[in-house]
Amino acid sequence: MYDDKNLKGRQKKAATLAYKIGDSLYLNITNRCSNTCIFCPKFNQYKLYSHDLLLEKEPSFEEVMAAVAVVEPTGIDEIVFCGFGESLIRLELVVRIARELKRRYSYPIRINTDGQANLVHGRNIVPELAGLVDTISVSLNASDAETYMQLCDTPFGDDGFSGVCDFIRLAKQQIPNVIASVVDYPGVDLDACRALALSLGVSFRVR
Ligand code: SF4
Repeated sequence: MYDDKNLKGRQKKAATLAYKIGDSLYLNITNRCSNTCIFCPKFNQYKLYSHDLLLEKEPSFEEVMAAVAVVEPTGIDEIVFCGFGESLIRLELVVRIARELKRRYSYPIRINTDGQANLVHGRNIVPELAGLVDTISVSLNASDAETYMQLCDTPFGDDGFSGVCDFIRLAKQQIPNVIASVVDYPGVDLDACRALALSLGVSFRVR
């Protein structure tokens, strides 16, 4: 029997995991973060535009792929791992989903990340993304370790900022398109951030 309530429930759950903004389909696979960024909207509410990104529990591979199918990946030009959390904390899942997305669809895949995955996992994880991920956008967020700590409260201390820079360098070697981004926030020296990004050999974006 047709159950409208259940259907709406499934659609709502799917919309939390996979949501469209503009020409991109975004995947929200965790609410966990390695950083606690001072400017992050999630500390006020887990809402982005009309999208409710608060996860009741972290989704499985099957749940994410089902959500992508419900939202229907048409009329988009990329699929992006980006929600209110750091996707690369769930590295194994990211790799599995990216592989399946590449098999099913032809869209480029982007990951928006805080750039701390190598510190979190204790190894260089970039080779695991090579060939699956087309673009990595790394939140550089500052031009020095002190400012980075003030803004992002990294649990890795001074290694947090150098770890982000190292991650950008390593990503540049294996991922076709790497972007360093910053939020235009009081205390952030945008010119110095731009110069640092360019010295790391990647493009720069203010978000
Ligand atoms: S890494 Fe991103 S999601 Fe996590 S606290 Fe910082 S801005 Fe928010």
